[in-house]
Amino acid sequence: IIEAYNIHKQFQKLEVLKGVSLTVEQGEVVAIIGPSGSGKSTFLRCLNHLETIDRGTIKIAGETMVAAERDGDGGYVSEAAIRRICGKMGMVFQQFNLFPHLTVLENLIEAPLLVQQARREAIIPEAELLLRKVGLVEKRDSYPSRLSGGQKQRVAIARALAMKPEIMLFDEPTSALDPELTGEVLKAMRQLAEEHMTMLVVTHEMGFAREVANRVIFMDNGEIVEEGLPEKIFTAPSHPRTQAFLERML
Ligand code: ATP
Ligand code: MG
Repeated sequence: IIEAYNIHKQFQKLEVLKGVSLTVEQGEVVAIIGPSGSGKSTFLRCLNHLETIDRGTIKIAGETMVAAERDGDGGYVSEAAIRRICGKMGMVFQQFNLFPHLTVLENLIEAPLLVQQARREAIIPEAELLLRKVGLVEKRDSYPSRLSGGQKQRVAIARALAMKPEIMLFDEPTSALDPELTGEVLKAMRQLAEEHMTMLVVTHEMGFAREVANRVIFMDNGEIVEEGLPEKIFTAPSHPRTQAFLERML
């Protein structure tokens, strides 16, 4: 459902992605691990069109979303098509990015109201259902400033789900949280995985990667160095850079 081929991205002189290729099947949970600065966030941001790419192709659900001109099947994709295809993906960031002036419920319905032109009465029950799912239905009328970090992040997850994405991208969703709050967020993500949501998760939570992911990708220095089943990566990594990284992490 995600097909990324040969993604290159440079910031000024700095080559951040050096030809990253990755495919994710529908229903798969893929974890991306790797040292700071290796390009993990940049890669997710490219997938979601928050960054433009210099070279490569991105297809989502079989449709070409971005094809940099230099590549074979490059060509023009209209802004409208990009927006539509991007809408298949929800993203959750390290910083929750909730709208501070809106209540929890309003945060959830804001985008569906605007983008899908849904009727308020129709989407409020859906939003409440999502809040129930992440265990926050009693906070529906609270403002984000009154929530803990873990609660905010669960609202951010529910808000992304309110757009009915086919794919969820997570960029270190728990790394801004106090350790005692990470569990509740990981639990919500685990539940989503059990419902067979397609998920691409950048994480420093090795336990989560090991237990929930179907596949683990190790990125270093703008490249995918190694990928494989969690068991394999965590117990018998074949590349010395993966070994060195895991020794530091575990
Ligand atoms: P971390 O684990 O710390 O989040 P990361 O793997 O997500 O790291 P990226 O955020 O993708 O790493 O950054 C990769 C490199 O690109 C870093 O050297 C970073 O400084 C640089 N970089 C990222 N965004 C920009 C930008 N907008 N302009 C210039 N350089 C950038
Ligand atoms: Mg990052």
